[in-house]
Amino acid sequence: MDLARKSLFFVVDDDPVTRLMLCRFLERHGYLTRTFANGAQVTEAFDREMPDVVLMDAKMPVMDGFEACRRLKERPDARHVPVLMITGLNDDESVDRAFEIGASDFITKPIHWAILRNRVHYLLANIEAGHKLSLAARVFDNTGEGIVVTDAQAVIQSVNPAFTHITGYADHEAVGRRMSLLKSGRHPQEFYEKMWHELLANGQWQGEFYNRRKDGTIYPQWANISAVFAPGGQVENFIAVFSDLTALRESEENLLYVTGHDALTSLPNRHLFHERLVFVLDEARDSGTMVWVLLLDLDRFKVVNETMGHDVGDALIVEVSRRLAVNLGGRGNLSRLGGDEFAVILPKTEDSQSVAQLAETLLQAMRIPFVIHDVEFFVGASIGIGVHPLDGEDAKTLMKNVDAALYHAKERGRNNFQFYRNEMNTRAMARMRMETSLRVALERQEFELYFQPQIHLASGTLAGVEALIRWNRPGHGMVSPGEFIPLAEETGLIIPMGNWALADACQRAMRWFASGIKPFRVAVNLSGIQFEQPDFVARVTEILSTSGLAPHWLELELTESIAMGDAVETLVKLKSCSEVGVRLSIDDFGTGFSSLKYLKRFPIDTLKIDQSFVRNCADDLEDAVIIRAVIGLAHSLGLTVIAEGVENREQIDFLQVHGCNVVQGYYYARPMSERALLDYLRQHG
Ligand code: C2E
Ligand code: CA
Ligand code: CA
Repeated sequence: MDLARKSLFFVVDDDPVTRLMLCRFLERHGYLTRTFANGAQVTEAFDREMPDVVLMDAKMPVMDGFEACRRLKERPDARHVPVLMITGLNDDESVDRAFEIGASDFITKPIHWAILRNRVHYLLANIEAGHKLSLAARVFDNTGEGIVVTDAQAVIQSVNPAFTHITGYADHEAVGRRMSLLKSGRHPQEFYEKMWHELLANGQWQGEFYNRRKDGTIYPQWANISAVFAPGGQVENFIAVFSDLTALRESEENLLYVTGHDALTSLPNRHLFHERLVFVLDEARDSGTMVWVLLLDLDRFKVVNETMGHDVGDALIVEVSRRLAVNLGGRGNLSRLGGDEFAVILPKTEDSQSVAQLAETLLQAMRIPFVIHDVEFFVGASIGIGVHPLDGEDAKTLMKNVDAALYHAKERGRNNFQFYRNEMNTRAMARMRMETSLRVALERQEFELYFQPQIHLASGTLAGVEALIRWNRPGHGMVSPGEFIPLAEETGLIIPMGNWALADACQRAMRWFASGIKPFRVAVNLSGIQFEQPDFVARVTEILSTSGLAPHWLELELTESIAMGDAVETLVKLKSCSEVGVRLSIDDFGTGFSSLKYLKRFPIDTLKIDQSFVRNCADDLEDAVIIRAVIGLAHSLGLTVIAEGVENREQIDFLQVHGCNVVQGYYYARPMSERALLDYLRQHG
């Protein structure tokens, strides 16, 4: 109701004096009036104008007050207008009748003005409250937002239709239940504790959280909860108004996908990259793992883009992203940050060496010429590398440092990668230099085999030699295998290197024997990686036939880990070698975990007791026991025992007493060049 407007009264009475008195009285109190002489007049007037209150005489000619009131109450537009009946008939029947037909109140004639004033005042106040209430009720019923009213204990008192629509709970299913009815289980207890705390402290809480619908689905909602306080200050009710954000979220996610991915390459864009990084770093902080970030930038993209046009530039970017994805082979998350800048997140711990290797692989992929629209061009790239947590706890710091590393790489002449940390660069550089020179060494044949004699303990005669690889590295002298075999194994260079050693040993042995030297066995070391090659056996037989060496002069030294690998596969390969006539020995025996059961099944000829046991065999009781046990075991299986690393007389005496067959060590001879070996053979022949 418009409160600024004066309230309008219809005064209906057939007595002009009463009409006049009533009008004067009402106008004095600031109300507007219209007067009518009978019920028929007033019902007509309703078509033109709507009063706030009707004062109606009961007894009138033409149409009495009761009938007029009844007609008014039938009109939807007038139904709410209160009618105050004025009656001279102070009997119960009239009063009942007045109320029955919808009158709001009644007063009796003669009019008691003070009573009239109070009744009117009360009526108007009621009208106002009613207006407000019905407005609130309409809002409550019609709003799209769910509304729940609870008591102080969060027990639901009432819900609106939108609540039912959103949650699926009908009015009677919700009322009387606690608010926890809607709990999603998505938030930790602390979340709710914080909410309640804030609600009681400020009387209000708003925010986003998940609730669960009656059908079990979980939905995001925006909620505004207020506490209603009683005059004493204690909470009386809570009112929660919430909206379902599901639809909004879905459209946001669509938007995120569209804006989160690069249209050209379909890779995540900078925005999504950043979000992902923040997420991954969060996880890494919890699990205490490392996260590496590689930032790659093409070296000559601008030139291509400007001289060849954007079409070519776009095609180039697509091809770059393809090559990166292929070379990542599923490792890490690739994003295109924009222009010619790409980033890779590598979660989970990976050591700097393998990251360096990956960076090098990616750079190599960029070095292969690009052919676009039949034009070939070279692009190249630079990479900056950083790692969480060393180079940054948070995404911002980390990216700043990775950026600095990329800048450094550009400064160093492009086409290279740089770690943010210099010590990583130093290590990576040393390794890369080593790897490069190993490759070159293979091509330039800088490797050479040395040979170490093996002696029959009983007779003191030559049993054979072990071929040991050496790297005659220009400027470094002879490099021993301990310094390059591990790297050769990691990079796969061990395969050509091992093949070379095998072939070289066979060829030389063949030449010695052809020149009249009395034949002896030549032992060659094998790496597990060589042995794992599917064509391993074919390789060995091919090398043997090329060289012409009789297979039984070749002995292959395997480590325990090779022999104990995939048992079936291993057994097949070992058997094939054995069938060809090649002898097999287990190197460094005692350091691994050989299963005796396997040893028995495998066609092994020799056990080589590891030097670490030989070293102290004369005075360490435990080592002595082990050696005795190994010798006993080997003999029971019909195997020959070689002790390596023999350096003194005491060791020889001990080994002799316990029946060791063959010894090898500095005490007799160091590994030596072929020339030195030929001299040695002449002297000891
Ligand atoms: P290994 O097969 O156990 O070779 C024995 C090592 O002990 C050799 O070191 C040898 O020089 C050393 N040695 C021999 N007698 C004595 C001694 O009395 N005292 C001491 N302290 N050491 C002695 P080297 O030549 O440095 O070779 C090291 C390892 O490199 C070898 O251990 C073998 O595992 C590997 N290796 C050598 N050549 C090849 C190869 O052609 N292919 C493969 N895959 N590995 C090789
Ligand atoms: Ca060996
Ligand atoms: Ca050994």
